[in-house]
Amino acid sequence: MFEKSKALYAEAVELMPGGVNSPARAFKSVGDHPLFIERAKDARLYDVDGNEFIDYCLSFGPLILGHSDDKVISEVSETAKKGTSFGAPTELENKMAELVIDRVPSVEMVRMVSSGTEATLSALRLARGYTGRNKILKFEGCYHGHSDSLLIKAGSGVATLGLPDSPGVPEGTALNTITVPYNDPESLKEAFDKYGEDIAGVIVEPVAGNMGVVPPVGDFLQYVREITEDNGALLIFDEVMTGFRVGYNCAQGHYGVMPDLTCLGKVIGGGMPVGAYGGKREIMERVAPVGDIYQAGTLSGNPLAMAGGYHTLSQLTEESYVYFNELADLLEDGLKEVFGRHARPITVNRAGSMIGFFLTEGPVKDFDSANESDLVLFKTLFQELLKEGIYLPPSQFEGMFLSTKHTKDDINATITAFDNALARISK
Ligand code: PLP
Repeated sequence: MFEKSKALYAEAVELMPGGVNSPARAFKSVGDHPLFIERAKDARLYDVDGNEFIDYCLSFGPLILGHSDDKVISEVSETAKKGTSFGAPTELENKMAELVIDRVPSVEMVRMVSSGTEATLSALRLARGYTGRNKILKFEGCYHGHSDSLLIKAGSGVATLGLPDSPGVPEGTALNTITVPYNDPESLKEAFDKYGEDIAGVIVEPVAGNMGVVPPVGDFLQYVREITEDNGALLIFDEVMTGFRVGYNCAQGHYGVMPDLTCLGKVIGGGMPVGAYGGKREIMERVAPVGDIYQAGTLSGNPLAMAGGYHTLSQLTEESYVYFNELADLLEDGLKEVFGRHARPITVNRAGSMIGFFLTEGPVKDFDSANESDLVLFKTLFQELLKEGIYLPPSQFEGMFLSTKHTKDDINATITAFDNALARISK
């Protein structure tokens, strides 16, 4: 069924570490080799062997309008005909900045970069420069890209591969990163009691999406807001994944908690390489060239990326999120019914168009409880679902993503596929 992919992978491992350009793609925890993709349209992915899948990975989140959206493709193509990069400003950058400022409640000024990693590392530098402090606090199981100071207890890819915190991160850097469990106000308070005066900022995924989907419990986010404010630290929401996925006005609009800085990526590029960071004008005006904190990029604000992002965000409406909830309701109910019938435990966590399931009784509210999931069963289930034409993100520690192009029929077909897969596994 996957012969061509297998052959291409055998070639690829000789050319690239692990045969891939990003570890999350390698299928290490779910199979022998990744699938090589030929093309994709709407909610469907087609591999080089001619297999068709309903895609819940969507390039790990960006494709909220599904693959190859007609408007996005035509606007990116038209933009490309006029030139791919100028190293000088374009009107499209103004339009994109206006749109982001309009939609993300706490953002008064924004700077475009080319990836989520760049967005978070730049936001940290700004937080450190602005406060004159060195320490950053992050939460266990939250992933914020692969920059040195954030690659500590970082969930997702590292967790999937079972790697310890990465070698190559200098000890001094690691010493300036404090980690505490997600959804645990007590530990956060203890950290502030101990290090409060040195903490430049707290960075958090407002809904964690890199240990599977783990929403904030109770008033956790409000508490993080209060304790940072009381201690003169900045609150940085990493909305690279949640931005425009959890709600029309991102997670901050959905939960009504306003950070000082916000990092964006994924959806804001609509499948093109884009990241951004923004926030209060007073803080953003410390960024060069108006301020003294340096950050730059040859391809930042790239016209193709701006076209992809602008025409993705422009097509999202409040109704899109009502639709995502309908799809997610259907999927959650269906999964619970099927797993119940097969006498298997499942926990389903959701936020907007992000939906995660764990093979455990739950509740799953932090990295430790996410790790209770049956990873061996996940691997088998993942493989059986591929045979059923369902493509999940290739890790227990990634959530499923919905697009406006997924239909209720797709969801019903997915529930049937889970049923068939579990029936085979139970035999
Ligand atoms: N922050 C979060 C919450 C992410 O999920 C990711 C990527 O998965 C990043 C940052 C890093 O973004 P990128 O892979 O574009 O560098």
